Amino acid sequence: MNTHPLPPAMLKGEGMTSQRARDRLVAKLKEEGIKDARVLDVIRNVPRHHFIDQALHSRAYENTALPIGHGQTISQPWVVARMSEALLEFGVPQKVLEIGTGSGYQATVLAGLVPQVFTVERIEELLRQARRRFRQLGLPQIRSRHDDGKLGWSDEAPFDAIILTAAGDTVPTQLLDQLSPTGVLVAPVGSPSSQTLIRMRGDGNGDFSQEELAAVSFVPLLGGIG
Ligand code: SAH
Repeated sequence: MNTHPLPPAMLKGEGMTSQRARDRLVAKLKEEGIKDARVLDVIRNVPRHHFIDQALHSRAYENTALPIGHGQTISQPWVVARMSEALLEFGVPQKVLEIGTGSGYQATVLAGLVPQVFTVERIEELLRQARRRFRQLGLPQIRSRHDDGKLGWSDEAPFDAIILTAAGDTVPTQLLDQLSPTGVLVAPVGSPSSQTLIRMRGDGNGDFSQEELAAVSFVPLLGGIG
């Protein structure tokens, strides 16, 4: 079912990080409306504890966002699942751009679902740690870049799908310009106190349809590099 299987090294884990803890998380995500079996399968197989500090390992398979340093968070598993599902609904995108690498968890989940993932992070230290994780897990299909993600990654455009994991008032126009004509973009949009997860879809003629998927809470999309 999964066309881009993740390396077997990912399946290891003990105690609170065991397969049983991951199975419990997947059961919870299903209860909370996640339906795509491909997404559930990848979430079951990705070791989320690998993306957070050891002191938080016992909470890695709880359905909550957790701190990753520099005032940032690894997203809640339900949100990662919902966004991934929303990107895949109209077909598997070949090339996906993520803005906000953070821990690298969302990028790793995507790498289990699509052939190529490009991810941009503005905080160099977070990117350095995420890159180490991608190397350790054997994920050459993820390429990453230290930059202001509002600018996208123009050399690699167009992308079949774009995902933002930090919230701005609006979706930066440079990102829409780098979306393929029938591409899909998923992003949290709004103020720090009230954000909505939206999905935009190109109609092939330069226009986009837009729908609201859920109420969410993300860290802000900032400008410049950190
Ligand atoms: N996808 C991440 C979520 C990290 S939180 C994960 O799975 O862990 C969002 C991240 O977006 C933070 O690391 C933050 O530094 C980053 N970010 C915020 N504004 C950005 C911008 N303009 N360009 C690139 N990254 C940005």
